[in-house]
Amino acid sequence: MPHTPLPRGTHEAPFRRRFTLLTRQPREAVATILPIAGAVLVALLATQWEEMAPQGALPPVIPFLGLALAATACMLHRPFESSTLGVGAAVIAPTAALFGALPAALTAGGAQLVADLVRRVLRKRSTTVAAERRRRFRSLELAGGLMVSLTGAAAIAQLLGQPGQDRATTLGTVAIMGGAYVVIFIGLKALDKRLRRPHQPIPWAKLVLPFVVDLVAWGGGLALARVALGESANTFPILLAGTSLLSLEAARHALRHGFSKQRVEDLERLSRASRRIASNEPGIRGMAERIHIECSNVLTFQWFQFELLAREPGYRSWWTGPERRLEDGVPQPPPAPPPLPGIHRRGQWRIVERALETEEQLLGRLRLWCDPRQLGNEAVGLLDRLLPQMSASVGRALLDIEAKQDPLTGLALRRVLEERLMRAYRASCRHGLPMSIVMCDLDHFKNVNDTYGHAAGDQALVATAQLLLTAAEGDPLRLAARYGGEEFVLLFEETTGEEALKIADQVRQQVEALRVEVDGEILPLTMSLGVATFPDLHVKRPEDLQELADEALYEAKHRGRNRSLRHLGRGRFRTVDGQELQGSAEVAETETPHFFA
Ligand code: GH3
Ligand code: MG
Ligand code: MG
Repeated sequence: MPHTPLPRGTHEAPFRRRFTLLTRQPREAVATILPIAGAVLVALLATQWEEMAPQGALPPVIPFLGLALAATACMLHRPFESSTLGVGAAVIAPTAALFGALPAALTAGGAQLVADLVRRVLRKRSTTVAAERRRRFRSLELAGGLMVSLTGAAAIAQLLGQPGQDRATTLGTVAIMGGAYVVIFIGLKALDKRLRRPHQPIPWAKLVLPFVVDLVAWGGGLALARVALGESANTFPILLAGTSLLSLEAARHALRHGFSKQRVEDLERLSRASRRIASNEPGIRGMAERIHIECSNVLTFQWFQFELLAREPGYRSWWTGPERRLEDGVPQPPPAPPPLPGIHRRGQWRIVERALETEEQLLGRLRLWCDPRQLGNEAVGLLDRLLPQMSASVGRALLDIEAKQDPLTGLALRRVLEERLMRAYRASCRHGLPMSIVMCDLDHFKNVNDTYGHAAGDQALVATAQLLLTAAEGDPLRLAARYGGEEFVLLFEETTGEEALKIADQVRQQVEALRVEVDGEILPLTMSLGVATFPDLHVKRPEDLQELADEALYEAKHRGRNRSLRHLGRGRFRTVDGQELQGSAEVAETETPHFFA
């Protein structure tokens, strides 16, 4: 195994944590207990409040804290993936009516920030630093917007009527403030959208819908409860407690829903990735490409390296840098991750290094140079869960290569050719498209072997095969195969006889121009080629087409070698210059062209 220098940076141990329900359970428990305990506290306070607050028995800070907790729960409740503060209107507006605009505004802003913090701590999603910074600013913006809305709403309530001490006036003030708060808040959100994306229409439905749903549901519930309870002394605190309790419950559901959604998304992502990895990729380079794509899907890295360490086909390495182009060779990452905008602290690379292995052997190694500020353990965990599939897939690709490639030349084996030929023939019959086959044979190769030795002969075969590979490379409709010894076959699907003959003659010229040097001498190499095309030559089996190509090759040999001929049927052949020749040997009669489905 070749020795590659150990990359600089911190190497971290394979991620061993199991991502099961267990790891999430403590967080789930906290997320459940916190709001429920809060709700019970709010309910208790609300029942006592009416008697205690007026006499000053209970410091006003306690009901105030209860309301702040309820407001936080409201902020946590976010249907439609975005913040919905309709519930907030039901809690924050009473806060403003009871304690004044400024404390309520501070409560709203504080509740928003605390809710964001709680969500962040509970979720602990692996996101990029940049995104996190943006989110932090967004939270501050949102909190600011809330405070502005609340203060504005309080001012409007002041203008419309002095809040009095009796309950009816208080409820009226609450209603006015709640409405004003919602209108101002939606207005601010719309302004925000207009400033950020001036060319996009404002998504009014998306802005208003959460409020409408919440206010209809919560407001309706409150109104119903009020009708049912009548004008009893404790109506307001009981309604408030009910609202808070329900909003806390909604918050709990929202969080749990978030967790489950994340988990389902992760599982789906893994299963999709496994399916993609398991699907056949052409060749080992295709495999490297697939592994690179799958790694990019699960975690953020700047540099990537995949080394093949299996005995066959030997050491190979591919890498990508920030441009994400897969290159052969070893990467040269800079000593430290590049700076992130606005963050001056530059850490070391965190190099995630994983072996790809089966039970029997080490197949390869994966190295990812990650910025620790952008890498979460969950992402590394996802990568680890993909490793068995990646290893199995590399193992399969290697076996596939072994079973399909000629070890000397790297060309497809005869068996592969026969399968492809059959498939191509069927496709050609079905779609009425032409297909061509070119038989190639090196001229007087026995002499080359006899004069320069078998090893020199092998060198010539490898060089010739490289030319044929180039002629077929990059086109899934072309195949280059070693038929045996110094005989090769090119298969061209959806290619006419004239095109195939032209390519065949180019190959002939290239072989003639080859400079394979052995002991200071250039090997004399030429090649003869025979082309046959279906359905120009109407054959009933693909093997017959191959036989006709062989006849054309035989004719080329017979006419002096180093030439390419195309079989026209009935013993006639055509040269690349368009000259028609009558065959020198008896050839099988072929039927006239005829399509069938
Ligand atoms: P022509 O095709 O022009 O009629 O003459 P030829 O000398 O090429 O004819 P033939 O097909 O009889 O000879 C094929 C020779 O190719 C025989 C064998 O020595 C050589 N050969 C076959 N396989 C290999 C191989 O893997 N390596 C080497 N070095 N030679 C091989
Ligand atoms: Mg030969
Ligand atoms: Mg031969």
